[in-house]
Amino acid sequence: MPSVFDTNITYLKGVGPRKAELLAKEFNIRTYGDLLYHFPFRYIDKSRIYKISEVNSDKTYFLLKGKVSNMKAVGDKRTRYVSFLLTDDTGSMELLWFRGLQWIKKRFDPQKEYLIFGKPSVFKNRFNMVHPEVEEATPENTMVTGNRLEGVYHTTEKLKTAGLGSRGFSRIIQTLLKETVSSIQENLPPYLQEKYQMIGHAEALVNIHFPKNTTLLEKAVQRLKFEELFFLQMELLLQKKIQKEKTAGHVFKNVGEIFNTFYHQHLPFTLTGAQKRVIREIRNDMKSGKQMNRLLQGDVGSGKTLVALMSMLIAIDNGYQTAFMAPTEILATQHYNTLKKLLGKMNIPVGLLTGSTKAKQRKEIHQALQNHELPILVGTHALIEDTVKFSNLGFVVIDEQHRFGVAQRAKLWKKNTIPPHVLVMTATPIPRTLAMTLYGNLDVSIIDEMPPGRKPVKTLHFFESKRLRVIGFMREQIKKGRQIYVVYPLIKESENLDLKNLIDGYENIVREFPEPEYHVSVVHGKMKAEDKEFEMQRFKKGETHIMVSTTVIEVGVDVPNASVMVIENAERFGLSQLHQLRGRVGRGADQSWCILMSGNKLSNEGRKRLETMVRTNDGFEIAEADLKLRGPGDIQGTRQSGMLDFHIANLAKDGVLIARTRKIAAAILTEDPQLQKPENFLLNREMKKRFKGKTIWARIS
Ligand code: ADP
Ligand code: MG
Repeated sequence: MPSVFDTNITYLKGVGPRKAELLAKEFNIRTYGDLLYHFPFRYIDKSRIYKISEVNSDKTYFLLKGKVSNMKAVGDKRTRYVSFLLTDDTGSMELLWFRGLQWIKKRFDPQKEYLIFGKPSVFKNRFNMVHPEVEEATPENTMVTGNRLEGVYHTTEKLKTAGLGSRGFSRIIQTLLKETVSSIQENLPPYLQEKYQMIGHAEALVNIHFPKNTTLLEKAVQRLKFEELFFLQMELLLQKKIQKEKTAGHVFKNVGEIFNTFYHQHLPFTLTGAQKRVIREIRNDMKSGKQMNRLLQGDVGSGKTLVALMSMLIAIDNGYQTAFMAPTEILATQHYNTLKKLLGKMNIPVGLLTGSTKAKQRKEIHQALQNHELPILVGTHALIEDTVKFSNLGFVVIDEQHRFGVAQRAKLWKKNTIPPHVLVMTATPIPRTLAMTLYGNLDVSIIDEMPPGRKPVKTLHFFESKRLRVIGFMREQIKKGRQIYVVYPLIKESENLDLKNLIDGYENIVREFPEPEYHVSVVHGKMKAEDKEFEMQRFKKGETHIMVSTTVIEVGVDVPNASVMVIENAERFGLSQLHQLRGRVGRGADQSWCILMSGNKLSNEGRKRLETMVRTNDGFEIAEADLKLRGPGDIQGTRQSGMLDFHIANLAKDGVLIARTRKIAAAILTEDPQLQKPENFLLNREMKKRFKGKTIWARIS
């Protein structure tokens, strides 16, 4: 049955074709339902008229009443602004206009009283108001009505011109509510409403637009947030379940000889508890008969590679091939070397396939894959080219997820008739609550324990003025045999400027650390791949003391002897990037340092970022802080997911509610997986509506 909320917006009184077109274009509002969910983003309180003497900086907006006189037009040839004096029986305040000057000059009758509503600002120790709302005072609008909370709506210049400013929105929504309020169906069963003390769906929708009082507004917000998050979690959990039931996976029955030999004879250290737990989780997925889609989160240095390798060995034990995909050539090569080293004398062939693999080798690899002679293939995107054919691909590890596009990953699925199990590893921790939404339909494993004996990196922040001290410190460290990274920001928009910064910086460093005593490498994005590689290798082998670079070294590069990370213009980096960079040091036995250099002038946010870095080494805590500082829209890779288009919930602020609604949804689905019980009828109906016409996208690819 089509609901009244699917009705095209053109049917609404007061919305003609022109407005409808603009609403669709500007806000994607096409139906009654869309408009109903265009909520105010804040409210202004007109419940009380204040005296001018009461104006203070505690409240943002004030409603005042008085006479408006003493016009002044300021400017030489052209009027730049117009000011008036608002006067009541307690004092006066200046009102200012910078636009619409001709009109405002004639706006006021000095004999009449006006209601003035706006945001006071302080100028020369006095309050004034710029561009306040103005209304002639009448007996009706000056009557103290108890509560006048007025919603303020997002709008655009185009919509304003068409009569849909904030007030305009308010008007058409009022019309809409009058027409439809009786058809708004409840969607949460009474037992949930009672348990969590929520008002009804319709009441919430009315009060979010036209709050009767602050209490009801709060209740409306609470109810609508709950709804939004709860149904999202329901959806994610159901998708996960359906996906599991639908997609068959290779069954890896045994943990066999190869795994056991490695575990007992070649493992260079004891696994951490977290590593063991995660391997168990993966193991269980692999024998379940369902395809695994698992996200492995673990801070830099937490030992994800080893977990990946041991999981690969299980696949190999069961006669399958495995692939290990990294985002860059440098990283692929490094993983290749790491795996070979870890496997040591075990005689398990490992192949490396990247963009620069020579044609002859490439051919050999293709042959070996098809003859089932190559159980492990490490590489870059080159791995998913169509020409690469496996005889029996069973398991794929993808390192550093955010660098791969969805379409690229989808290609993996075509490499075998039954899709391989997929393990995605990411070292950019995301807050648990965000993971619950973004990856709510995936299985998530977390390594939350560092290998023993690591010395936490010490982080310090220095202003530019302390550079000499920092240089002295660098010399000291080099004398002790350590190596140092110096990293410059690279931001796309100003690439040339950044490159200049880097080159200037390099020249300064060479001046401070001259040959022949010191050797300095430099690596940046404009260099040829082989030159980059050459410089990286020199540094890795310990032939150079300092590596000056852009963020190309951000991910994964492993030089245990490098124990100092100097980050230039640190205030220009995002938190997660700073954390990634810091993860490049602290890999050896020595005390490591991360030095954040910044200019003296810091934005509030920039300062908070640096403070957070100095305060903690915990990637998850940093991710939380990042989410709070920047909001979820900027977290890497989340924007395109479309998962964050909430009407009212806020991922950064509603973490507790996200966790709670997930728990509630999971509990309900455990009790009643098909939502068949009578008490869950309303949920069943709502979920059907939500799934209608949706493709299931629960797989990672
Ligand atoms: P990640 O990929 O999670 O950043 P790695 O897998 O590169 O971390 O591991 C970081 C370092 O820690 C490597 O040198 C690795 O050999 C070592 N390592 C891994 N697991 C352990 C462990 N259980 N005990 C000691 N060292 C470990
Ligand atoms: Mg790694």
